[in-house]
Amino acid sequence: MHAPSLSDRTIDAYTDVTGQDRLERLRSLAGTLSESRILHVNSTATGGGVAELLRSIVPLCNDLGVDTDWLVMDATDDFFEVTKAMHNALQGDGPSLTEEMKATYRTVNEENARELEDEGEYDLIVIHDPQPLGMLDHLEATMPTVPIVWRCHIDLTDPTEEYLAFVSEYTKRVDHAIFSRSGYIGDTAVPGTSIIYPSIDPVTEKNRSLDAETVSAACDRLDPLSFENPVVTQISRFDPWKDQFGTLEAYRRASEDVSNLQLALVGGMAGDDPEGLELYEQVAEEAAADPDVHVLTDLPDTGVNVLQRESDVVVQKSLREGFGLVVSEALWKRTPVVGSNVGGIPLQIVDGETGYLVDPDDATGAGERVVDLLEDDDRRTKFGENAREHVRERFLLPRQLEELLDVIVAQRH
Ligand code: UDP
Repeated sequence: MHAPSLSDRTIDAYTDVTGQDRLERLRSLAGTLSESRILHVNSTATGGGVAELLRSIVPLCNDLGVDTDWLVMDATDDFFEVTKAMHNALQGDGPSLTEEMKATYRTVNEENARELEDEGEYDLIVIHDPQPLGMLDHLEATMPTVPIVWRCHIDLTDPTEEYLAFVSEYTKRVDHAIFSRSGYIGDTAVPGTSIIYPSIDPVTEKNRSLDAETVSAACDRLDPLSFENPVVTQISRFDPWKDQFGTLEAYRRASEDVSNLQLALVGGMAGDDPEGLELYEQVAEEAAADPDVHVLTDLPDTGVNVLQRESDVVVQKSLREGFGLVVSEALWKRTPVVGSNVGGIPLQIVDGETGYLVDPDDATGAGERVVDLLEDDDRRTKFGENAREHVRERFLLPRQLEELLDVIVAQRH
């Protein structure tokens, strides 16, 4: 196991974006845990939402006076191949789960759990996602009284049965489980559960307020995209479920009514994802004929921030979606979003108040909703203000931290 290096964070940095009540509740919850030692365990220090979340909440818990550690599993490529197959299979499809795969999973988990013996005593352990669940075998023997909370960040609605059965052998033995939506629990064997929605961190480079100079410089770097004319944006991995072709269709419909409309399709390109590259190439080829469609990759966080902030409308035309953090990211920057009525998107878009919800198959309808917003400056402004408040109340990090501390306090006592 190893501890990632973390920058200091202070809860005071959230004073401007979170109500005093919430900050007081956080301090009070933390006060009841001042004698406790908490450990979070996951399988990666960088990349992905879980590492992002821990990078914020672990230093914040320490700032609040709760002695909190984060340890990342040490593992071989073999192990990650097994857990990647497990991740895919638990969310849908995967190869057959062999005895060899199970043995690799158990051995690496056992080795990591043994190392915990050198870390002293903990009062509660939070295990994130399925990768470190196998540590339970050892922990039950060495720390039998320590409550274990399992924080599941994935959707277990439609898993491959043999993987769910394997994982359920562990999940039924934890003390409590946390899921991101109630629908995601599916048939997983768990004792008590809580639902905690994901959140965005308002003080990061991607989400913080920017001064006019930074915005202007970042806009210049996005040239030939011009904010003098209307801009519609979708920011998503190049993945079939994100439906970039549907977004193109919606943009074409909107262009019939709105002159000089531009579309920015932004996506991260993971070098190890050949499917993503292929889809990117197809989208880029389809977009090449239209000089007003800009397909952009590898934007830095400031670029994403500025594009979400300066676009007139953001679109999220997913066919399926876990939560869709990009929606809250845009709404937080007061940009209304037209999004599909799938996954976590309807939690974030209040239809007719912070944006519009459309049927995932209805690209034309999405285009028409974009037009409704582009043709009405007042409506966009009003939706933008509603959007900011909606995210402030529900989808900012301090709320997620408060709910997590609630669970920890309940399990600790
Ligand atoms: N993202 C980014 N650059 C890109 C594409 C995505 O920074 O080119 C970020 C985006 O801002 C968000 C995250 O990746 O923070 C995607 O999270 P989301 O929940 O929307 O979708 P996921 O990719 O997890 O399905």
